[in-house]
Amino acid sequence: MKYALVTGGSRGIGRAISIKLVSLEYHVLINYRSNEEEALQTLEMIRQAGGSGELLKFDVSDPQQVDAAIAGWSEKNKDACIEVLINNAGIRKDILLMWMENNHWHDVINTNLNGFFYVTRSLLKNMLINKYGRIINIVSLSGLKGLPGQANYSAAKAAVIGATKALAQEIGKKNVTVNAVAPGYIKTDMTKDLNEAELKSFIPLNRFGMPEEVAEVVCFLASEKASYITGEVISVNGGLYT
Ligand code: NDP
Repeated sequence: MKYALVTGGSRGIGRAISIKLVSLEYHVLINYRSNEEEALQTLEMIRQAGGSGELLKFDVSDPQQVDAAIAGWSEKNKDACIEVLINNAGIRKDILLMWMENNHWHDVINTNLNGFFYVTRSLLKNMLINKYGRIINIVSLSGLKGLPGQANYSAAKAAVIGATKALAQEIGKKNVTVNAVAPGYIKTDMTKDLNEAELKSFIPLNRFGMPEEVAEVVCFLASEKASYITGEVISVNGGLYT
């Protein structure tokens, strides 16, 4: 069996990626922080698509929880190697920097940036030993161009882009690739408070994207077909960045 871990797989983009990974014949470890009901729903959708999976609850921003959950899973699955990691878990806490409190800053950095670090570090050694791996980091348009009200989120996503490029150079020789996907506005819980009717006029394709449209690109990067792509950032934003 081949194993993939999707952080924040309970909802939104992470759910769409988890389901799409079935087409690559991965057994999917669905990570989530608290929303078990939604995580179980993702698992059910994986099964309906003909695949298999399981839940793996931990808070990506807590290094003890990350290490304990992954060590516990590895203990029960001794010969298994998680060869695909999708660092997708993320939150936003938008506020103008002049009003930003410490927790707005630290919560967003801890989840979006530190979470990437803790989970990747925990899985990387096995990928290197196995001489195969695919790491895909879900970043954002906000990390490429910066968006007002998101200094915390833009900083976290831009940092993950930097780390993607650095890590790609560290591990390329071991046949482990690491890339980033930068969505624009995608219809999920994260964007449900945004006014699509108003914002879509700025988007060349004139609409928000669907989670499945991000999942397509992520799963291409997770496949063997993407064997010569590493350190890259691919935008899925309806043309908004240009
Ligand atoms: P959602 O808010 O719909 O889902 C967030 C997911 O992340 C949930 O599964 C949630 O778990 C999980 N999560 C949040 N914090 C943690 C944590 N500390 N530990 C473990 N899991 C956690 O978000 P989206 O699907 O919209 O976003 C997914 C990724 O895409 C994020 O990184 C986001 O920044 C990025 N992105 C999204 C865009 C959009 O327009 N939607 C645009 C650009 C980037 P639980 O259900 O348990 O709460």
